[in-house]
Amino acid sequence: MALIVHKYGGTSMGSTERIRNVAKRVAKWVRAGHQLVVVPSAMSGETNRLLGLAKELAPAKGHSSAYARELDMLASTGEQASSAMLAIALQAEGLDSVSYAGWQVAIRTNNAYTKARIESIDDRKVRADLAAGKVVVITGFQGMDEQSNITTLGRGGSDTSAVAIAAALKADECLIYTDVDGVYTTDPRVVAEARRMERVSFEEMLEMASLGSKVLQIRSVEFAGKYKVPLRVLSSFTDWDIDIEQEAKSGTLITFEENETMEQAVVSGIAFNRDEAKISVLGVPDTPGIAYQILGAVADANIEVDVIIQNLSREGKTDFSFTVHRNDFARTMDLLNSTVLPALGAVEVVGDAKICKVSIVGIGMRSHVGVASRMFRVLSEEGINIQMISTSEIKTSVVIDEKYMELAVRALHKAFDLDQPKA
Ligand code: ADP
Ligand code: ASP
Ligand code: MG
Repeated sequence: MALIVHKYGGTSMGSTERIRNVAKRVAKWVRAGHQLVVVPSAMSGETNRLLGLAKELAPAKGHSSAYARELDMLASTGEQASSAMLAIALQAEGLDSVSYAGWQVAIRTNNAYTKARIESIDDRKVRADLAAGKVVVITGFQGMDEQSNITTLGRGGSDTSAVAIAAALKADECLIYTDVDGVYTTDPRVVAEARRMERVSFEEMLEMASLGSKVLQIRSVEFAGKYKVPLRVLSSFTDWDIDIEQEAKSGTLITFEENETMEQAVVSGIAFNRDEAKISVLGVPDTPGIAYQILGAVADANIEVDVIIQNLSREGKTDFSFTVHRNDFARTMDLLNSTVLPALGAVEVVGDAKICKVSIVGIGMRSHVGVASRMFRVLSEEGINIQMISTSEIKTSVVIDEKYMELAVRALHKAFDLDQPKA
């Protein structure tokens, strides 16, 4: 008997028909002798619908922090509804089942509305229910802060709920059921030739997630690494009654060992995101402390900065560029124009929200030279201009015009032989 956490994403929970299928699959696992905790997302489209209603009532002026608490109160209801429906469907399958909202467990988070971090999970109630033979359904995406306010964990946060619950319960495995049958070399919706990876190293998965592969929320991967939670991504769209042994081995395993097959590939995957915007402060005096004066002000406003470049100075002046999340774009522009620009005596602040970041990821990059330059060559052959570059040991990212994103991803996927089966 094993203790297993299943997570089902929005599409997998998208209709009563699909919820019934989830219940049948869970029932199969229970009847095979396992203890199950199930973490569902809201039905697909529901979180967007709810947040859209809020926007209708109070169109966000750059930032919605004024009513962030209420956004969480609102958005969290999607998961509450789907959890209750799943518990009902499980009971209809003849299983004893109970659903809990995050606060009932309790899942404690900090107070950062709309992007809260889980701080602790009380496992007592869940353990008691499991011991009593129940299937426990726990809402994804949400928790409660110290003052009992409901918080949410950021878009895609149900992955993190599931892995954190698995860590707290010391579960034998956490299975993330979704609408693709695993982690691919890149988003299969963009590159039809993308291949599923049987295994991907934890480090590579962490980079892929942080660079935009939305198949797993980055914090779920961080949790898996920190608590060594065995984690697998697999399809919820197979027939629910397929052989359980076969199902348990399907999809993609996130591994904590680096085996040789992974060493052989220089680049393992390609990630991209359209969520950032570029801001350039032009004509700043090139004196010590400039980066601090610009980025310090941005950090004080709680805005995260990603790629940064400072140009060579000419006649004592330089240009300074960086990227922020698009949601923070307007706010950052306002801040720079109103305070930083006058204080620095800079010439102008210009922004560009039509950019994207494309990244190649692979542990093999550690031991191979020339990988980045090959990436630059491929992009130049496609006539794509690189605006910014950022590298680390196992990834290289470029910022390019958004309209070339798909072209860049496809060209790189082919150039690094990711469409070919591994030797
Ligand atoms: P869920 O609702 O189950 O959480 P998501 O939409 O959050 O599902 O994540 C699954 C989607 O992630 C897939 O449909 C796919 O389009 C996208 N995706 C992006 N990058 C990858 C990748 N490298 N491998 C697999 N899927 C990816
Ligand atoms: N329902 C939430 C969202 O759409 C959480 C999730 O699906 O993981 O972001
Ligand atoms: Mg998701």
